[in-house]
Amino acid sequence: MLELPEAHSLALQIRAALAGKVIAAAAANESPHRFAWYTGDPAAYGARMSGACLTGAQAVGGHLEILTDRGSLVLSDGASPRLWQPGEALPAKRQLLVLFGDGFALTCSVQMYGGLLWCEPGTNGNAYYQAAAAAPDPLSAAFDEAYFLSLRAGSDALSAKAFLATNQRIPGLGNGVLQDILFFAGLHPRLRMGGVTQEEYAGLFRCVKDTLARMADLGGRDTEKDLYGKAGGYRTVLSKNTLGTPCPRCGTALEKAAYLGGAVYYCPTCQRKG
Ligand SMILES: [Zn+2]
Repeated sequence: MLELPEAHSLALQIRAALAGKVIAAAAANESPHRFAWYTGDPAAYGARMSGACLTGAQAVGGHLEILTDRGSLVLSDGASPRLWQPGEALPAKRQLLVLFGDGFALTCSVQMYGGLLWCEPGTNGNAYYQAAAAAPDPLSAAFDEAYFLSLRAGSDALSAKAFLATNQRIPGLGNGVLQDILFFAGLHPRLRMGGVTQEEYAGLFRCVKDTLARMADLGGRDTEKDLYGKAGGYRTVLSKNTLGTPCPRCGTALEKAAYLGGAVYYCPTCQRKG
């Protein structure tokens, strides 16, 4: 799933590889997917996107926005982009194909669910995108300790996971990146925010900033793929890759539980639950 670090590193790769290229053709929904979202009729994507020149790419929370002179393509959640060299075989199952004039191709496939929203300028009314665009990027200077403190109001009854990763409180911080942030903060995903001390909250702020920055700098998490299909360079402490292995701090076997619509991973010793 696309979250903030992957959106940042994919944007960087797309800017480097595709800036200046012109879209020669596009096709959406060739492999129909129940939970792939488009703007308008996907059959019109070809006509709407053709001729557009790619000008850049940026992360907007966990959204990856590919910018052109005619509009932008916003990918979210389980929509993952892959770049193909001229002549490379393209995957048969794809929810979006973008062909460039020089033979390069970008494909997007959707795992679980995801958005592939082509938006002409000023037409992106997607509520999640708008909320992400309105909030400070956690990697920016505007996301400072005072801002993080302001998010805490009214959160005492929420668990640490619900506080960090629900309600778009911190756009782009989802159930994936959440795991390591809470590990480094020493807080269990189920711990009530009302029981988090001021000192722990300050530590949580630093863990949000530092962990997300490290993940983005290293090209995303090792559970996700980059633009070329390679796993990201950030080695997750807590993920499906490390379940059952010894905690790097204390040696206890790392555990997993279903909680709040997704798996949580944790060290039962290092992360305070109550
Ligand atoms: Zn531990």
